Amino acid sequence: MTLPTVAVAVLLGLLAGSFANVAIVRVPEGGSVVRPRSACPGCDARIAPRDNVPVLSWLWLRGRCRSCAERIPVRYPLVEIGIGVLFGVVAWRVGLDPLLPAWLLFAWTLFVLAVIDLRVRRIPNRLTYPLTPVLLLLVVGGALLGGDPAGALRGVLGGVAAFAALLALALISPRGMGMGDVKLAGFIGVGLGPLGWGEVLLGVFGGFLVGGIVAIALLATGLRTRKDYVPFGPSLAAGALAALLVGEPIIDAYRAAVGM
Ligand SMILES: [Zn+2]
Repeated sequence: MTLPTVAVAVLLGLLAGSFANVAIVRVPEGGSVVRPRSACPGCDARIAPRDNVPVLSWLWLRGRCRSCAERIPVRYPLVEIGIGVLFGVVAWRVGLDPLLPAWLLFAWTLFVLAVIDLRVRRIPNRLTYPLTPVLLLLVVGGALLGGDPAGALRGVLGGVAAFAALLALALISPRGMGMGDVKLAGFIGVGLGPLGWGEVLLGVFGGFLVGGIVAIALLATGLRTRKDYVPFGPSLAAGALAALLVGEPIIDAYRAAVGM
C-alpha cells in the first residue's frame, strides 16, 4: 500500500516542483503564476512542453536554453528533486491519510517560502494570504473525514496560537523577525495542529533552535558577521517540517526523559 503511494507522491512532487520554480521567480516580482506560459528570460522563447519535463529536460539540455544557450540555473532541477523527495517522505510517513493533501500543500509551501526568503529576504503575503485558508480547509476537512474533530479544532487554534506567540515576540524583540515570519508561524500552527500541541510547539520553536545553530555556524566559520541579516524563514520551515516528519519520536523521547 505504501510503496505505490510514495511513488505517486514523488511524481506529483516533481510536477509540483516545476510549478514551484515558477512561483519562486514570479511571486516576489508580483507576476501571475499562471500566465504567461514559461519563457526563457534570455531570449523570450516559449519553453516547449518537451523542454519542461522536471529534472530530465534540464539534464538533456545540459542546463542551457534550446534557442539562445542561456544558462538555466541549477536551482531549477534542485527544487524539482527537493520537492519530489519531500513529497515522497511525507507520503511515506503519513500514508494514505485524509490529511495527506493538507500536509503535501504544507510541505510545498514551506519549501517555496524558504527558497524565496533566501533569494529576496522576505516572505511574500501573496503566498501566505491565499494558502493559509486553503490549508485550513484541507486540515479541518481532512481531520473531520478521519473522525478527529478535536484535531480539526487544534488546526484552527494552533494557527491562532502560533501567530499570536510570534507576534508577541516580534513586538518585544523585532530584530531579525518580520511580519512575514509571524504569518508563516500561523500557517505552521494550522498545519501541525491536528498532530497535537507538542508538534505545534516543536514546529515553531524548533525553528528558533535551527536558526540559532545556523547563526552560530555562520559566525564561527566567518561566513557572516554579527551585523549581517540571516533570513529566518528557512529555519522556521525546517523546524516545521521536522515536527511533521519526526515530531512524534522526539516528543515521545522528551516525555520519557521528563517522566510524563
Ligand atoms: Zn533563451
